[in-house]
Amino acid sequence: MTTAAKTSTEREHGTYAKYKLDFCRCYRCSFACSEYNRNRERAILYGTWQPYVDAEPVRDHVRVLLEFGMGWKQAAAVAGLAQTVVARLMYGQPKRGVAPSRGVRSKTASALLAVEPTLQNLAPSACIDGTGTRRRLQALVVAGWPQSRIGERMALTPGNFGRVIRAPRVTVRMALAVMAVYDELWQADPRAHGVDNQGYNRARNHGAARKWAPVGAWDDDTIDDPAAEPDRGENVSQTTALAENALWLVEQHGYTRQTAADRLGVSKAALEKAISRTSQSAQDQSSEPRLAWAPPKCGEARMYRKHIRDGETPCEKCKGANAAADRRYRLTGSRTEAA
Ligand SMILES: [Zn+2]
Ligand SMILES: [Zn+2]
Repeated sequence: MTTAAKTSTEREHGTYAKYKLDFCRCYRCSFACSEYNRNRERAILYGTWQPYVDAEPVRDHVRVLLEFGMGWKQAAAVAGLAQTVVARLMYGQPKRGVAPSRGVRSKTASALLAVEPTLQNLAPSACIDGTGTRRRLQALVVAGWPQSRIGERMALTPGNFGRVIRAPRVTVRMALAVMAVYDELWQADPRAHGVDNQGYNRARNHGAARKWAPVGAWDDDTIDDPAAEPDRGENVSQTTALAENALWLVEQHGYTRQTAADRLGVSKAALEKAISRTSQSAQDQSSEPRLAWAPPKCGEARMYRKHIRDGETPCEKCKGANAAADRRYRLTGSRTEAA
């Protein structure tokens, strides 16, 4: 990789990289984000009509990848193109006095436009916002995973683990390692993986004392977004939290109530009681905490996804909600409506 990875303070405002990696939502960065999407969508559209397209929007796209610390050689590799093709597009052939070309084959263009600055494509040493990393580690502790056990899996010393779980910024390498360990552990029962009751309870109490949010308080759209709040009422009672987590496992991950009860370490009877008590108090609209996780209803973007998962054709209301969420994502970088 030829481009040095930038730290957050070095990243300039008015760039898509600042928007995406540092979650800056200032006017200039938001504008850069919508320009990035507009440029890319337009260029893709033109490329579907003509054998040759204007090279400038494609160069713009590669420049954005460079801002992300990706390097044009890596962009070529990910696009499946020869390095010389990308070098000529970007820099021409200086030794022969040939300037960068005005046009480019649409096949080349679409291969490069398909390369997006995802975490997997970035320089491992690039520095990004640590919000999602912290939340993932904290949620695992809340689920009963001792910090030492999580750290072991990532080959982190306890001291380093303690730093990462609080770090405002992390490297891409660390963010990816934490995502991998989270995906592996979040739905596993620590006690079925060699964690004794004492360690399990100590971890849960540690997380609860710090009001860390459980796995169920986040979804893929919110966990990395510093502006997103965990999806739960303040001071969620034990009963509500239990019902919430169980319903979430059932609705989102196809657990039965029995397997959800097993996962959460309670009897099925206790779980049924918690669910009925929680929905009761939600109906009462008393001062009790509300049931923060409600099953998806038609007219919500997440119901659109449920229709698809269930093999149904999404209804018009859900189609509308999904389109609105997509639009919001293009404008703000988040599919979730601001509170
Ligand atoms: Zn900014
Ligand atoms: Zn629907």
